[in-house]
Amino acid sequence: MSDAKKGPFFLTNTLSRRKEEFVPLRPPHVGLYVCGPTVYSDVHLGNVRSFLTFDVLYRWLTFIGYTVRYVRNITDVGHLVGDVDEGEDKIAKRARLEQLEPMEIVQKYTNGFHDVMRLFNILPPSIEPTATGHLIEQIEMVKRIIGSGYGYEANGSVYFDVPRFAEKHAYGELSGRRIDELLANTRDTEGMEEKRSPLDFAIWKKAEPSHLMKWPSPWGEGFPGWHLECSAMSTKYLGRTFDIHGGGMDLKFPHHECEIAQSVAADGEAPVRYWMHGNMLTVNGRKMAKSEGNGFTPEELLTGNHKLLEKGYSAMTVRFFMLQCHYASTLDFSNAAMQASEKGLDRLVKAMALLPKLKAAEADEADIDALERRCHAAMNDDLNTPVMIAELFEAVRIINSVHDGKLKLTEASIGKLRTMMRVLVRDVLGIREEVADAKGDDHALDALVQEFIRLRAEAKARKDFATGDAIRDRLAAIGIVLKDTKEGTTWERA
Ligand SMILES: [Zn+2]
Repeated sequence: MSDAKKGPFFLTNTLSRRKEEFVPLRPPHVGLYVCGPTVYSDVHLGNVRSFLTFDVLYRWLTFIGYTVRYVRNITDVGHLVGDVDEGEDKIAKRARLEQLEPMEIVQKYTNGFHDVMRLFNILPPSIEPTATGHLIEQIEMVKRIIGSGYGYEANGSVYFDVPRFAEKHAYGELSGRRIDELLANTRDTEGMEEKRSPLDFAIWKKAEPSHLMKWPSPWGEGFPGWHLECSAMSTKYLGRTFDIHGGGMDLKFPHHECEIAQSVAADGEAPVRYWMHGNMLTVNGRKMAKSEGNGFTPEELLTGNHKLLEKGYSAMTVRFFMLQCHYASTLDFSNAAMQASEKGLDRLVKAMALLPKLKAAEADEADIDALERRCHAAMNDDLNTPVMIAELFEAVRIINSVHDGKLKLTEASIGKLRTMMRVLVRDVLGIREEVADAKGDDHALDALVQEFIRLRAEAKARKDFATGDAIRDRLAAIGIVLKDTKEGTTWERA
């Protein structure tokens, strides 16, 4: 499939603060790097929104014909509680609190992260590298930074010399920060006496004897600085310069700014051509945070078991709700907005279920090609999912009208509409057409109905059509409608 077919794709580049046409370095290949989770606690809904943004980017790039190598890391060492160069390692701290080995913490929360990604139908990346799995690459990068004169050792730690780097290179360009302003706003932090400037950051940290997560290096036993892993792993898998780097808005500074400095210092090249940042999720107008008491987990959301939730919502309702907002805007979570999304998704899924039943006419009273072009144009315009969803509701209106006999479409147009809806809703937006909602009783109901579907299939297999039909009719009588499709039998409530 050629990308030219669907028109140029425009993306807002955080670096230029402009919408730019996306042109990959080595088409049809695209290199995409997204900062993954630090696996020391449960994922909350704000994290889900960030990973969803890049999931849609990955799906869209694939849809328009690119071969994407999508790298999303797991931070399993080096992310300190203070986020900069101070405090305990987040994973080591959690290990101490839960009385587990640090790698047990890493495994536990990596598993949990994967479960949440699957729940929201967020596709796995092509490569999911870990920081502890790439210590050699990180140590080699520290050596290159020292070699180029932008890193120095002090008491077993190695620091990045920011003022020296800023003399010759742009530092702060991505986040719009200036060296003099940064200097005016610094405060005393741990390791200050070792640093030449308070702006310097650790690329390798000396480990105290009691530290659990440490490795040998030319500078003694220690561990890598948090920013280093992304630079080392993106270089390894995507090259010194690659196409797109994504992450949440909160990572712009210092994390991404430091990534740029490290790569330029080590290899002399700006690492990223397009930077992309997703915006935050708020709850009733306030930032989502555990300390605010509004940082509910996906489980609480599904069960409705939280004081801020009026009821439970399905994972697909949440996904649809998030997609109804552009990724660069803040999204406010409220029960009213969720319930509106639930209704909207229900209309969409019900209309899709009507698609196989539409009857063709001799003439066309709606232009499906034009509708599809408008959907593609919305996505090509900086992944404008809310505009595309508005167009999909136009498709819903058309489907319902054809079904009610109020609008005519030819067989060819109905076929196009079916393909378009399947591809855009399932493949691009990643919406699974679930019958069950979040409530546990519907999961039980689904299991029960699946049992009847199996019994009916067995009856038909032994040519006992009377029993097969009786099962279908009795279920229909209590409002459970079975549908035989090419993929098998499905069910829905009447
Ligand atoms: Zn990162």
